[in-house]
Amino acid sequence: MTEQSLSYSSPQMQDESFLLEVNNLKMYFPITRGIFARVKGYTKAADDVSFFIRKGETVGLVGESGCGKTTVGRCIVRAYTPTAGEILYRRADGAVVDLAKLQGEELRPYRKDIRVIFQDPYSSLNPRMTVFDIITEVLKVNKLAQPEEMRESVEYLLKRVGMRPEYMQRYPHAFSGGERQRIVIARALITNPRLVVCDEAVSALDVSIRAQILNLLEELQADFDLTYLFISHDLSVIRHICDRVVVMYVGKVVEIAEGLDLYISPKHPYTEALMSSVPISNPRLRARGSRIRLPGEVADPSNPPPGCYFHPRCLYAQPICAKESPPLRLLDGTRSHYVACHFAEELSLRGATMEE
Ligand code: SF4
Repeated sequence: MTEQSLSYSSPQMQDESFLLEVNNLKMYFPITRGIFARVKGYTKAADDVSFFIRKGETVGLVGESGCGKTTVGRCIVRAYTPTAGEILYRRADGAVVDLAKLQGEELRPYRKDIRVIFQDPYSSLNPRMTVFDIITEVLKVNKLAQPEEMRESVEYLLKRVGMRPEYMQRYPHAFSGGERQRIVIARALITNPRLVVCDEAVSALDVSIRAQILNLLEELQADFDLTYLFISHDLSVIRHICDRVVVMYVGKVVEIAEGLDLYISPKHPYTEALMSSVPISNPRLRARGSRIRLPGEVADPSNPPPGCYFHPRCLYAQPICAKESPPLRLLDGTRSHYVACHFAEELSLRGATMEE
């Protein structure tokens, strides 16, 4: 798959700069009923999702709650086994493996390469373990280091995330939310990962602490040569940190673009509505950009509408939209802007109101 390709249907990883390529990923959860738990249908949490991440990039995955972004992240870290599709990962030696096809022990080497930072620093730390044990658990389970090496690594990482090394013998209850998230970050980095999936990593934090953690993540990216997949519903956060953004709606990717391009010039009506909801602090600018209120409710992923899933709410829908599902395709006249809308070239959509 190259940026010039018209669709995301060619699983190649031809470009050496690609670290990860997700192709036609599907994650369907069965809906069962009755005492025999017969399968009555499926919730299509991720439905034909495709995108790629280059080495050193920060890619944002955005959408409302329930759009499937967390499911995609969990498939990539292989907390879930995908129903179908590929998750192609380029190892440090250059070889490409399909993580979606691996099972059990085969996944072990990649558990250290691909790490995750969860949203809630309160529930993601075991209250009965010390900070040292929390950070080194993955090393012990996978026999990746000797005890003396672990101590040195924990000391170094705690300092690097802005905490005192002597805190390693304390328990999580002794720390604030921001400090806990720093511990979570140290735990993610202890294996020297190549890709970190940040799942709403700053959503549970106060605004001032959020900015500190975002700055820390940016510094660590440069120092540790990290690549981030940043999953968030917060468009202000995504704009601050991401190079490119993937927008999802009801399990499908509807738009992919460079961060600023997406904010200034969205090409999908759903992205336009999302951008109109970006909070504006300046009252003069706030008056300029009114929020678009979409009619109806988000579609049910177990029973999505025919054609374009967004058509019952779309302000620009035409008869064809209820019949034919628009494929994700390269927008005419661009090199890297992908959109799934029949009328993307014809619509003139409004971007986010920029404050700076
Ligand atoms: Fe709206 Fe039709 Fe485009 Fe879907 S394909 S986003 S319904 S205009």
